Order: sequence, then structure tokens, then C-alpha cells
Amino acid sequence: TVKWGLIGASTIARQFMINAIRSQPDGEVVAVMSSDAGRAERYARDNGIPHHFSDLDALLGSPVDAVYISTTNELHLEQTLAAARAGKHVLCEKPLALTSAEARKMVAACRKAGVVMGTNHHLRNAGAHRAMREAIAAGRIGRPIAARVFHAVYLPEHLQGWRIRRPEAGGGVVLDITVHDADTLRFVLGEDPSEISAVVQSAGLASGGLEDGAMTVMKFSSGLIAQTHESFTVRYAGTGFEVHGTEGSLIARDVMTQKPVGTLMLHTAAGEEELSFDREDLYTRALRQFHAAIRGEGAPSATGEDGVWSLAVAEAALESARKGRSVSIDPQL
Ligand code: NDP
Repeated sequence: TVKWGLIGASTIARQFMINAIRSQPDGEVVAVMSSDAGRAERYARDNGIPHHFSDLDALLGSPVDAVYISTTNELHLEQTLAAARAGKHVLCEKPLALTSAEARKMVAACRKAGVVMGTNHHLRNAGAHRAMREAIAAGRIGRPIAARVFHAVYLPEHLQGWRIRRPEAGGGVVLDITVHDADTLRFVLGEDPSEISAVVQSAGLASGGLEDGAMTVMKFSSGLIAQTHESFTVRYAGTGFEVHGTEGSLIARDVMTQKPVGTLMLHTAAGEEELSFDREDLYTRALRQFHAAIRGEGAPSATGEDGVWSLAVAEAALESARKGRSVSIDPQL
């Protein structure tokens, strides 16, 4: 079995990750750590977790094999470094840290310790995105020319906390959602972006100088161009992901989400075809790949390096918005 310790008594762990771990034939959630002893105890009781801690060293000193880190973003760096020192495998939430330089330190520490490191970019595990990647690789749209990502949503009221109020915790829509879009573009297209221009806004929800809306355009190594729209304040836009090529277009709707839902259409000279795709839970699949990586079989769906990449894109987007000009993207890997 793989014994998991949760670092962070978070919403995402409660809603998706505890279940994803327990869905594995060999996965067990044995402990949770919260900065607050009372919350740790309640969270453990509510979720049937045998052990709870309010001290990181105590959790890392207990018999866990792997940790899932889903605290606020400014805490991921030190928690990952400590977990690596303790010889624990690390699945860390995105953004990996507040800067790509910090994220690179995390990757280096896990490599040095010989532990597996993954970034929880769930969208790579979505059947829709995997089907798009396969269709592109199989040449079904010819040469890809452009991509568009629609990821403007309304931040649910129960999550209207640090994300829109605390810059020091890594709030803002760019660190929250642009990182996912950057990772999904890299995964679906199979290539990396080299340059980005971005504008951001505060449309009424975020405070403290944080942005709650962003639009970016990127150039990829092949010459492909992509645009993205991220928001916390748009209620009815719906989400989508499109890739347009010389011979066809892939149009996915309702796929920038945590659930295995949505539709995928292929449009070519032959007409319109709906492509079917796997509907497995995204987080369950991520966990399965992570467990395989622990056994030495392949890599996590999104590696630590992938997390450095997505953060480097987000960082460049914020720099571009601040400076009012395009910025080159260099993850320095
Ligand atoms: P939450 O706000 O639910 O949890 C973050 C931290 O806030 C917790 O670790 C906890 O601290 C503290 N906290 C939670 N509830 C309370 C409360 N009622 N009172 C006081 N403090 C509380 O964040 P999310 O679960 O939304 O996000 C956590 C991380 O996961 C972030 O890095 C985020 O970017 C990422 N995320 C990733 C998703 C994905 O699909 N990949 C989806 C959603 C989030 P403590 O542990 O000290 O108790």
C-alpha cells in the first residue's frame, strides 16, 4: 500500500483527492495536517482519517510514504522541501510556488532525495484533452495553427477567500487558472510556448491589487499562436478548448472543469464528427499514474518540471501585464 499524508485541510482534498486516493486498490489516507489543531481533528473525524497533526515534522515523522500538499500557495515550497528531506514522495498542488525559481528548487530537492514529484494539473487526465492530443498527433487536423482556451468562470462563494484577497498567499486568477491553461496547451499541443502578452483586470471581486480576470496570447515553438481567457467573475460564458489546423478544427466544450464531462467535435472537409472519450474521474487517473511512478513505471501525469513550466508561463503573463509588452518564457530547466 501507499500510505498518504495530507498537508492542508483543504477543500480540494475533501472534494476530490481523498476519494481519488481511496479509489486506488493500494491507496490509504492515514493522516492529515492543518495549521490549526482543532481543524485537523475535525477534518480527520469528518473524513475518516485515522491520524491528525498540527505540526509538519510530526506528520513527516509518522509512517507515511507520500504527501499531498494542498495548502495555500506560499506554503508549498517549504513543505515540499521538508517532505523531500524526509524521503516522502510529493504530489503538490499548482501553482507549485510563487515563483518559478522556487519551483525549480522543489524539483531539484525531490530529485536529490530520489522521491517522485508530481504537480496536480488535473486537466491532463481529462479524456477530452487526451483525445485532442491523440487526434492532433495522428494528423487529423493537419498542421495545428492556432488554439483558443475559454476558462472564464465564477469563483464559487465558498472559495471567495485567499484567492481574491491575499497576494502574499499567491492569490489571483493568473496563478490559479492561467497555470492550468498553460499546462493543458502544452499537453494537448505537445509543444512549448516561447512568448506571451497578457492584460489583466480587477472586475469587482478581487482586492489588494489582485487580478480576477486575464487574457493572454502566446506564441509556440512551431509558430502556432494561442489565446486564453481566465476569470473569477464571469457567470455564464461556459468553458472550451479549440485547436485549429490546416485540415480541421477540434472544438471541445465544457471541458475546463474538474469533472469528466463535455463534448469534443472534429470538423473537416468530410463534415462534422463527434469524438468519444474516456470519462474516468480526472483525479483518480492522476493518482493511478502517481502510484505507478512510485513503482518505477513511468512518470506522474504532470511532473514537477511541468509545474515549473506552467508557473513560468503565469509569471511571464503577470510581468507582461505589468510592463505592457510581450515577455519571453523561459522555465530554465
Ligand atoms: P482551501 O482554502 O480550501 O484550503 C487552503 C488552506 O486554507 C487549507 O490548507 C487550510 O489551512 C485553510 N482553510 C481551509 N478551510 C478553512 C477554514 N474553514 N478556516 C480557516 N482556514 C481554512 O483551498 P483549496 O482547496 O481551494 O486550494 C488549495 C490548493 O489546491 C491551492 O494551492 C489551489 O491552487 C489548489 N487547487 C487545485 C485544484 C486542482 O484541480 N488542481 C482545485 C482547487 C484548488 P490548514 O491546512 O492550515 O487548516
